[in-house]
Amino acid sequence: MNEIRTIKLYSSLSGKKEVFEPIVPGRIGMYVCGPTVYNDVHLGNCRTFVSFDVIYRYLQHIGYKVRYVRNITDVGHLLDDGEDRMSKGARLDQLEPMEVAQKYTVGFHDMMRIFNTHSPSIEPRATGHIPEQIAMVQDIIDRGYGYIKNGSVYFDVIKFAKENPAVYGKLSGRVIDELLAESRENLKNQDEKNHPADFAIWIKASEEHIMRWKSPWSVGFPGWHLECSAMSTKYLGQTFDIHGGGGDLKFPHHENEVAQNFGACGCQPARYWLHANMLLLNGRKMSKSEGNTISPQELFSGDSSFVSKGYSPMVVKFFMLMAHYRSTLDITDDALLAAEKGFRKLMDTNKLLQGMSIDPRDFDGSESDTDRAILQLIDEAYQGMDDDFNTAMALASLNELGSYVNKLANKQIAAGEVAPWVLERLKTVFHTFISDILGLKDETSGDGDDTVDGLMELILDIRGMARAQKDWTTSDKIRDALAEVGIQVKDGKEGVSWSKQ
Ligand code: AMP
Ligand code: ZN
Repeated sequence: MNEIRTIKLYSSLSGKKEVFEPIVPGRIGMYVCGPTVYNDVHLGNCRTFVSFDVIYRYLQHIGYKVRYVRNITDVGHLLDDGEDRMSKGARLDQLEPMEVAQKYTVGFHDMMRIFNTHSPSIEPRATGHIPEQIAMVQDIIDRGYGYIKNGSVYFDVIKFAKENPAVYGKLSGRVIDELLAESRENLKNQDEKNHPADFAIWIKASEEHIMRWKSPWSVGFPGWHLECSAMSTKYLGQTFDIHGGGGDLKFPHHENEVAQNFGACGCQPARYWLHANMLLLNGRKMSKSEGNTISPQELFSGDSSFVSKGYSPMVVKFFMLMAHYRSTLDITDDALLAAEKGFRKLMDTNKLLQGMSIDPRDFDGSESDTDRAILQLIDEAYQGMDDDFNTAMALASLNELGSYVNKLANKQIAAGEVAPWVLERLKTVFHTFISDILGLKDETSGDGDDTVDGLMELILDIRGMARAQKDWTTSDKIRDALAEVGIQVKDGKEGVSWSKQ
């Protein structure tokens, strides 16, 4: 086996970049908090999952065998008013909670496919792991960090923080004095808890609560934080390599996960904690309640006041990857237009490059400055990824490499200046980065399927003729029928284009 590249990653637990060392050489266990499936996945969620998909792909690319666990939250994630998100979804849609979970899990998977991400190795559902969660609650009680009140079980944060001062608050930067200063008045109607910082790990179900299971304490349901602790332990062991999620989960979700795992077994769950930053819309956090939101579908179709036109899924993905996953990313129409140009340029350059060849007779046999510059840029693309998965750096290097490709094509660089093996390496690197590492694909090429391309050309010609005669009914019928089979037609200034989802 080739030696695996050394990578550095920024862990929120240590607050710095660290050289990554796996627990078992050559293998990685990675857990990422998945979606709460009570409504459609939004673009912010997509950014986080696209970021971790690239991390998963890169770790595999450099030779690790990765077990990637990403859960589905289908119980226990409560709203501020205490109602379970799943129950609320079920009440609003007049469905069984499991129908809600199924509907939005399918929608989530569809969206992940549209963004060309790989499925995780295991995708456990919280409702499928109730016995494991009950066992963990029992472990926490047995070790003295859980107390029972009227059938519910609470995690005793104050006791845990006092006995483990180096553990509680390390991830999120919360200090115990701040916790202690919180007044009991903050308890409001949750007065079963001994302290406002305590949190429920098992909740007794009220009469009207639909999702309920038998437990030693009551008929009830598990707390949201508990599911991730129980499922990561089950599939990755008590201590595993990487835990990820969006930065908004750092507190309380991840801090409480650490407390639960440590409370149950006396060890840290993950060695490295990775947090993806938030997606903003026009400078503000994307939020449904403030109307500052755009759905992936609206962005793809352009059917939103926030954008001047539609952007294809791969353009949106490219736009996400142009920023490092730990930076905030602001969606604006101008930034998307720029991303669209950048994406097209990369795809066109790749097409040009893959068709190139150098006649060995043109090559004078010596390594030139151009060869060295190309090899240096290839190295920089990899160094970018090694440095905490910096896709922005990698794309910048690919862009510079693209200039060499274009100069070679325009004969601004003589063919003899590039060694045939350097050109071959460049071809492989472009293909590897675009397809394997970043998971991008050229949507306009119809996946390279000549039959599909030919048929699409014919269909769009017929539609063009209908439009020329102002026959909007035929034109719209063609567009809608194509949309039904997952092909989106876009009428832009530059003409008609299409993309496959
Ligand atoms: P949820 O379905 O709310 O549990 O969130 C699923 C994942 O998406 C979590 O890792 C969140 O941290 C992440 N997430 C939620 N909102 C955003 C956002 N605006 N930008 C980036 N990630 C987000
Ligand atoms: Zn989680």
